[in-house]
Amino acid sequence: MWSGWKQAAAKLGAPFTLTVEEVRAKVEAAVGRPCRFCREPITLREFSGDHQIPASAGGAFANDNLDIICRRDNEIKGNMSTIEYSMLVATVRTFREESRADTFRRLRLGSKAMWSTGGWRDSKKGKKPEVVDVYASKA
Ligand SMILES: [Zn+2]
Repeated sequence: MWSGWKQAAAKLGAPFTLTVEEVRAKVEAAVGRPCRFCREPITLREFSGDHQIPASAGGAFANDNLDIICRRDNEIKGNMSTIEYSMLVATVRTFREESRADTFRRLRLGSKAMWSTGGWRDSKKGKKPEVVDVYASKA
């Protein structure tokens, strides 16, 4: 995780101040505790390092921007900030059970599709994926 982030920071030209010790301490503190989003316990097999403010939005590769969450939520969260994703989760939690499960399933599958098609890589290079934001002008 640490070396991958160091490479990502270099590619983005983003500051990188994280130490291996800081990452290790965060992971050790998080394992066994509930994920801030889904409340499932974080495990060594399924943890993920997350930027509270995404690197794509100028978030630093720094200890105070690092969060340890479950891999599932990190896959769905993508380039959302912690605040944005918290708002999404809070909203979807109000849906009826069937709709809630369907929404998270679609979000996760969409995330996997973006990984497999390079959608994330495009956005990290500053190019927008070929998706039309039909909601932008109707907010
Ligand atoms: Zn979670």
